[in-house]
Amino acid sequence: MRSFFSVLFFAALAGAAPADWIWSARYVVTMDPQRRVIENGAVAIVADHIVDVGTREAIDRAWQAKQRLDRPDAILTPGLINTHTHAPMSLFRGVADDLKLQEWLEKYIFPAEAKNVDAEFVRWGTRLACLEMALSGTTTYVDMYYFEDTIAQTTKEAGLRGVLGQTVIGFPAPDYKTPQAALAGTEKFLKAFDNDPLIVPAVAPHAIFTNSDGTLKASRALADRYRKPLVIHLSETKTENDETLAKRKMTPTAALDSLGVLTGWTIAAHGVWLDDADLKIIQAHGVGLSHNPSSNMKLASGIAPVVKILNLGIAMGLGTDGVAGSNNDTDMMEEMDLAAKLQKVSTGDPRALPAEQAFAMATITGARAIRLDRMIGSLEKGKRADLIAVRLDAPHAVPMYNVYSQLVYALKSSDVSDVMVNGKPVVRDRKMLTLDQAAVMAKAVEYQERVKKSLR
Ligand SMILES: [Zn+2]
Repeated sequence: MRSFFSVLFFAALAGAAPADWIWSARYVVTMDPQRRVIENGAVAIVADHIVDVGTREAIDRAWQAKQRLDRPDAILTPGLINTHTHAPMSLFRGVADDLKLQEWLEKYIFPAEAKNVDAEFVRWGTRLACLEMALSGTTTYVDMYYFEDTIAQTTKEAGLRGVLGQTVIGFPAPDYKTPQAALAGTEKFLKAFDNDPLIVPAVAPHAIFTNSDGTLKASRALADRYRKPLVIHLSETKTENDETLAKRKMTPTAALDSLGVLTGWTIAAHGVWLDDADLKIIQAHGVGLSHNPSSNMKLASGIAPVVKILNLGIAMGLGTDGVAGSNNDTDMMEEMDLAAKLQKVSTGDPRALPAEQAFAMATITGARAIRLDRMIGSLEKGKRADLIAVRLDAPHAVPMYNVYSQLVYALKSSDVSDVMVNGKPVVRDRKMLTLDQAAVMAKAVEYQERVKKSLR
């Protein structure tokens, strides 16, 4: 009998195909169309993509891996997708809190940016943001800022995936003094990062109220010419809506639509004040939205109608927004928890936005919102190998009756132990492999002194 089983064992081994990695864990949360949760599951990876997802037993039978990571006390999930950030603003973390948006912008952020933001600031700020994002389980982020080419280089250096939008704005910015110069610079940026395995370069006209109609239209045309996304802030505050209505007799969404700006690949952040007619436009154009609960709460912007939006089939992901005052961190685990709870409060219904749906917003629905769902957002054969391990060994992690409830309501971003992006490990045992954490943190303190002095 024994020899019979040995023969079977070696036959299986001989038939096992080569893989670069196998990651296994107590649970694999796939977020695939069947929403499979596999107990004692594993994922096999070849080069940059997933080749198989199943039970550990089946994966070990089918694949012979060069390297493996076994986490019997963890959950494997798709990497988290942060659909709205301003990464370099991490160096302004908490520079001015608890203020009205206008005062915050005019007294602190604009002067601090004018005096401090250059390519070097952006490089270190992005390193800090990538460090924070990777260690908390984010594998893809959507950004809008200045010197976006530096952000792209730094994101690649960190090994993260980014949809990175070069800001186009109607006043002199730290990188370009005019929108025309910004559009010309953006075109170079789109060309430089065309077909990059990690970066999707994008055009990011800041908002309807900070750009002329001509610049907005030119931004759309530029994005379309290079088949890249347009990233914009949309209906974040009531003031934005009121002022646009007064000036144009149209909501921001209707006004952008009338200019043709929403036709094509578009990612719009916030959408707090969208009405039913706006949602029809967004649905018709397949615009992806980003919900930013921390930011909307902290700036008292309001509560986006997330349940209504998702029920219309509109893809809305989650975002942290910049950390300078609208949110003080890039913690996606916190955003999921807040998103679910805010909808319950605003609708008066505890059944609103259940845990599984909130987790989907941070993964597959977020991927749909940025139109990268054929590539990322779930653990499925053929998709890019972007995955994380979340540990279950802390007191707040036991017992576990429902894996989605645990992920959204109990587990913390500090429970993330390992992160892989595009088939490459970037975090192992809570240590960043691609960036020098001590150097980045020391630089952040150096910048803190510089920024403080500049605001005196
Ligand atoms: Zn923003």
